[in-house]
Amino acid sequence: MAEILIVEDEPSINELIRRNLNLTGHHCTQVFDGLAAAGLLESGSFDLIILDIMLPGLDGYQVFERACGTPTIFLTARGELSDRLRGLAMGADDYLTKPFQMLELAARVEAVLRRTKKAEASFSVGELVCDFERHQVFLGGQAAECTPKEYELLEVLIRNRNIALSREKLLELVWGYDFEGGTRTVDVHIQRLRRKLRLEERIKTVYKLGYRFEA
Ligand code: CA
Repeated sequence: MAEILIVEDEPSINELIRRNLNLTGHHCTQVFDGLAAAGLLESGSFDLIILDIMLPGLDGYQVFERACGTPTIFLTARGELSDRLRGLAMGADDYLTKPFQMLELAARVEAVLRRTKKAEASFSVGELVCDFERHQVFLGGQAAECTPKEYELLEVLIRNRNIALSREKLLELVWGYDFEGGTRTVDVHIQRLRRKLRLEERIKTVYKLGYRFEA
């Protein structure tokens, strides 16, 4: 779990980001203008900042200067290439162009946290333990046999837990863009994971879409 500061003046976007990062197990603090963000950065410490550029009070760049090296993902408006370049040149870790998909945000957040060593090393729920460093799964303390693809699929589901993932997205994330097989491959692997790891109640089928790992 990471402490994340969300700086975004659009309340609906700010709230959407908070809700999604909460679901993936992070704790979020929300602010809606640059001055409030600068005040919080003086008094508190955060593992990551999600930072909009166009803000009332201080803009995103001015807030970033006060962030003292805290990992930062900038939010930029579509087409503002100069904003992206300036942010990265200043040392931002990544940027996202609005509008963005929550799945993309979650992936970028985990990537930055992994680089800065704040990402979770393992995940456990009930009898299941998934060790992300050793790529191993344990059930009731016993190592469970998973094929590499089964493991990757489980890790993607867990890292995006409580978010519905389409079969196509899972196929892309686990098997890659150029995979020739169909989405049936995903269904077969999901069935095996459910049976092997007793995850019938955790891996839910999302009608007409795909799957969701609930925790
Ligand atoms: Ca804004």
